Amino acid sequence: LIQVSNLKKSFGTNEVLKQISFSLEKNEVVAIIGPSGSGKSTLLRSLINLEQINGGSIQIDNDYLVHDGVYVKPNDIKKVTGKMGMVFQHFNLFPHLTVKQNLEMAPKLLNHQPAIEIETHAKDLLDKVGLTEKADAYPSNLSGGQKQRVAIARALMLNPDILLFDEPTSALDPELTGEVLKVMKDLAEESMTMIVVTHEMGFAREVADRVVFMDGGEIIESGIPKDFFSNPQAERTKMFLQRNY
Ligand code: ATP
Ligand code: MG
Repeated sequence: LIQVSNLKKSFGTNEVLKQISFSLEKNEVVAIIGPSGSGKSTLLRSLINLEQINGGSIQIDNDYLVHDGVYVKPNDIKKVTGKMGMVFQHFNLFPHLTVKQNLEMAPKLLNHQPAIEIETHAKDLLDKVGLTEKADAYPSNLSGGQKQRVAIARALMLNPDILLFDEPTSALDPELTGEVLKVMKDLAEESMTMIVVTHEMGFAREVADRVVFMDGGEIIESGIPKDFFSNPQAERTKMFLQRNY
């Protein structure tokens, strides 16, 4: 479903992604782990065109977003990135809108669906993340875990084929991470295709089909969780796991 080849990204002279290649199958859950500054967020952001890359190709569902460093036309960019939803560490909810309005905004702007359908969809998704009673609350009156569940529901409103998560629980108090991980686990069990950048090794081990370890802008190794955690190959992976697992 996603094919990335030789992706390069620099900020000035800082080469942040060095010839990254990787692919993701439909229904696959991939956990990306690695030290701070290794390029995990930049990789995710590149996939939805929040960062412009300097070389290589990104294909989503056989359509190019960028081909050998050349981006497709703006309308085609939207078509490709529209297949993905993203959930951020700091929720990025609209503070002046209620929970319900946060969910309904993007689909209403797109204007592809009757309002009543959008409202029903929002209700269903709030129910799914266990927040039906918060529909009319403002984000400032929610806990971090509740905000992140709203953000996940919002990302699902446009029926993405792929969900990208960038450290969705890193800003949460430990007692609130479980409720968010539970929602993500439910999505995985419903065969949602997901890329999850995370420090939650337990989640990576239990839920991911594959773990990818990044360091210094490169993918050092990847494998199924069982092998990856019990028998890491690279020295850098071993060191990282010793410190973090
Ligand atoms: P963390 O675990 O801390 O979130 P990360 O693996 O997500 O780290 P990135 O945020 O992708 O790492 O950053 C990779 C490198 O790119 C870092 O050296 C960072 O300073 C640099 N970088 C990221 N965004 C920018 C930017 N907008 N401008 C300049 N440099 C940036
Ligand atoms: Mg990051």
